[in-house]
Amino acid sequence: MSDLRDLYQEVIMDHNKKPRNFRDMPEADHLAHGNNPLCGDALVVYVKLSGDIIEDVSFQGSGCAISVASASLMTEMLKGKTITEAQKTYDLFHQQMTDKSAGNTASLGKLEVLIGVREFPARVKCATLSWHTVHAALDNDHDISVTTE
Ligand code: ZN
Repeated sequence: MSDLRDLYQEVIMDHNKKPRNFRDMPEADHLAHGNNPLCGDALVVYVKLSGDIIEDVSFQGSGCAISVASASLMTEMLKGKTITEAQKTYDLFHQQMTDKSAGNTASLGKLEVLIGVREFPARVKCATLSWHTVHAALDNDHDISVTTE
């Protein structure tokens, strides 16, 4: 189990050092700002839709390793998905991160590397920030701000 934890740690550090899809997107048709004042994480998430498919998704900003790695993994996960699929992934991830008794974490796919974070309730908001932000972006056609509570 500790080997697995080391591997998860490595994946998180890799995504933090080299975040995927970390760029501005002038042609985005949805965007939202997300803030986690508890930790100081501040992200912007950009989405470009083609019909109901997420054609492109990117983010910018700064934050702790968990928030950046989570946003990076999220962009990889959501690209090419439909809005409905993205919503399902958001619900699943949110449930798994906030409810320790939630079942099969394998269904999270590559997001499983973040599951250890739920042992640290103060950091869960770091991991879910980008997801709250993309959720807000998809729900609105103008720039909006979300703050974790
Ligand atoms: Zn954080």
